[in-house]
Amino acid sequence: MCLRPKDPQWNQALDDNVASQGPQGLSLRLGGMRVKSAIYAADRGRFTRSRSRLVSRLSEAGIEDERVLEAMGTVPRHTLIPEVLWGEAYKDQALPIGEGQTISAPGIVARMTQALALTGDERVLEIGTGSGYQAAVLSGLVASVVSVERIPQLAHEARKNLDTLQVTNVTIHEGDGTCGWPSSGPYDRILVTAGGPELPEPVLLQLKVGGALVGPFGPRDAQQLLRVVRQDQKRFSQQTLGACNFVDLIGEHGWAA
Ligand code: SAH
Repeated sequence: MCLRPKDPQWNQALDDNVASQGPQGLSLRLGGMRVKSAIYAADRGRFTRSRSRLVSRLSEAGIEDERVLEAMGTVPRHTLIPEVLWGEAYKDQALPIGEGQTISAPGIVARMTQALALTGDERVLEIGTGSGYQAAVLSGLVASVVSVERIPQLAHEARKNLDTLQVTNVTIHEGDGTCGWPSSGPYDRILVTAGGPELPEPVLLQLKVGGALVGPFGPRDAQQLLRVVRQDQKRFSQQTLGACNFVDLIGEHGWAA
């Protein structure tokens, strides 16, 4: 069962964590833009031209947030997928990562990251770690990321890969992300990277007032990317950003396993 706001542990969990800050990434100034990245020393030298072509395509496709473009040009996506697929790493497509799951396509990662409207200080919850790619992109743009993955094997692999990239401000937990991760909340932003039938209420309640959630919801054949803003304790506003196609969000407030 998810923790609920009326459970005594919920407030406890929130109180304990409001004051605690995740570790901060290193800040560097690259080409005039602030992107935190000790991170990518590991494999930056490879596929640099493929990455800059990807950034040009993303820009042509309407990604305008310079920090998002910088982050997309920095994260070595190939290091988060099986080596046999490296030749495909910088095409705009989802790719298999095992366990029947996929790494999201760069285009949708960029769109969703841009829709979060990040300024650099946010504490972000990601639901669906998968390969860790989206978390790596976020890591350079925010203060800290808490990412939840339901498949232990993927959570381990992602942790290992993010360690190699020296990403220090992402914490990965195994569990049902449709319950959110209340013990580290509330969050400035929440990103859901698997498609659920409807907005999971416990997750919404872990959003700070003024904060935004972005994620795919609706019937499997008609998923919509939603952006939800918490107006006050009780009111949320919702905007539709377009059709999309994600793997299932499976859990107590998602699809059945
Ligand atoms: N953000 C990922 C996308 C992975 S695909 C990336 O950049 O690679 C979506 C992921 O969500 C899958 O790994 C799937 O196992 C996971 N998932 C599905 N339901 C979940 C749930 N209830 N809680 C946590 N993770 C979930």
